[in-house]
Amino acid sequence: MSDTADAVVVGGGTVGAWCAYFLRRAGLARVVLIEKGFLGQGASSRAAGVVRMQGGTPEAVRLGIWSRRFYLSQHDEIGTDSGFTEQGYLLPCFTEADVAAAEQRMAMQTALGVPVTWLDPREVDAANPTLAPGQTLGGTFCAQDGFIAPPRNVAAYTVALIRSGAEVREHVAFLGLTADGPASGCTVETSRGPIAAGMVVLTGGPKLAAVGRLAGLRIPAGGVRHQVAVTERHPDLDPARVPMVFDLAAGLYWRPEEGGLLFGMSNPDEPPGENREVDEEYLAKMRARLAALVPVTAGLGLRRVWAATIDYTPDHLPIIGRAPGLERVTVACAGGAGMMWGPGVARAAADVALTGASDVLDTSPLGLDRFDEAGHSRLATDPIALPFPERIASS
Ligand SMILES: Cc1cc2nc3c(=O)[nH]c(=O)nc-3n(C[C@H](O)[C@H](O)[C@H](O)COP(=O)(O)OP(=O)(O)OC[C@H]3O[C@@H](n4cnc5c(N)ncnc54)[C@H](O)[C@@H]3O)c2cc1C
Repeated sequence: MSDTADAVVVGGGTVGAWCAYFLRRAGLARVVLIEKGFLGQGASSRAAGVVRMQGGTPEAVRLGIWSRRFYLSQHDEIGTDSGFTEQGYLLPCFTEADVAAAEQRMAMQTALGVPVTWLDPREVDAANPTLAPGQTLGGTFCAQDGFIAPPRNVAAYTVALIRSGAEVREHVAFLGLTADGPASGCTVETSRGPIAAGMVVLTGGPKLAAVGRLAGLRIPAGGVRHQVAVTERHPDLDPARVPMVFDLAAGLYWRPEEGGLLFGMSNPDEPPGENREVDEEYLAKMRARLAALVPVTAGLGLRRVWAATIDYTPDHLPIIGRAPGLERVTVACAGGAGMMWGPGVARAAADVALTGASDVLDTSPLGLDRFDEAGHSRLATDPIALPFPERIASS
């Protein structure tokens, strides 16, 4: 076998691509990224781009802080960027239980350095004049949260990969791997022949479970349909007047986009599995909920609608860790939050692959060993997430 690499990274989404970049920057001479289609063809080019530090667990907060900083420093580092826009993010509370949960979260977030503040109901209405007044019991707000432009992020990591000297192989599928021993390098089987690799990082977003199966691993990660739409422009929706908002209980979020609103919502009853068809019936429910909270959207047409498969894990937390029994194989998944956590997950995965630990965050609770045979996690579920399924499709 003549083809060799210090590291092979599987998957050209935001997690795999930034991971390959970090591995190269850490000094590995030959980093090869294999992607069965083309860079960004998975979830990473289809996302809504929301980036928030207001996470529901300390791990989520740390990854949000790290990734936001990375987006802000990107231009100096690689000459282009992912289009991070600081917009401010409001998480309104509609019940006393929401308020109690928000207070607890704020204490944790503040202790970790997130500049999150509590807005009383009148302050919420003042901060967001498009919101129907008198709806909330207050909410948490972080002015430094924002969003990236997902296609621009794909362009940014493509440039970063090329500049760093990582080798990108598109239209090359991962087919499996064999390791000579638990601590030895691997032979990576691909659709273009084998590669002898010192280490391997497996990503795959919504397809990570299938990638894992090819490597003989059981990875409890799934994919499920998620819909996003963008309204027509309206003067009331000028970005200067509209913070981003997450109506957590409904699983509906929105942010300004080109003079209109971009909004997304997950159907909690959606069965797991790949699906990119637009569900018109559910889209009507999304529009109704949005119109109840942002009345100006009721009369607006839609300029874009799309559905794509989003990745998730049963506890809605990322997976970052070495594969059990295979020291040279690392698994990385952003758990459906690859815009807000992706660069942090990617850097932590590169660190874990190289040294077993990371200064991004303590990855020891986030490995595959937190799941039991049925895929149940022993960690508490991240409460600030879309209503993802908590089970994985059996197929
Ligand atoms: C509609 C939608 C909206 C979203 N909105 C947000 C948001 O606002 N904020 C946020 O944080 N996150 C959001 N997400 C989630 C985010 O997009 C994902 O978490 C992130 O893109 C996952 O990145 P990834 O690199 O793990 O996966 P992907 O981008 O899916 O990349 C995985 C890659 O692996 C490749 N691959 C699979 N199998 C193989 C194989 N056998 N061999 C080689 N290559 C293979 C695929 O072709 C793919 O390109 C959204 C997702 C969707 C779908």
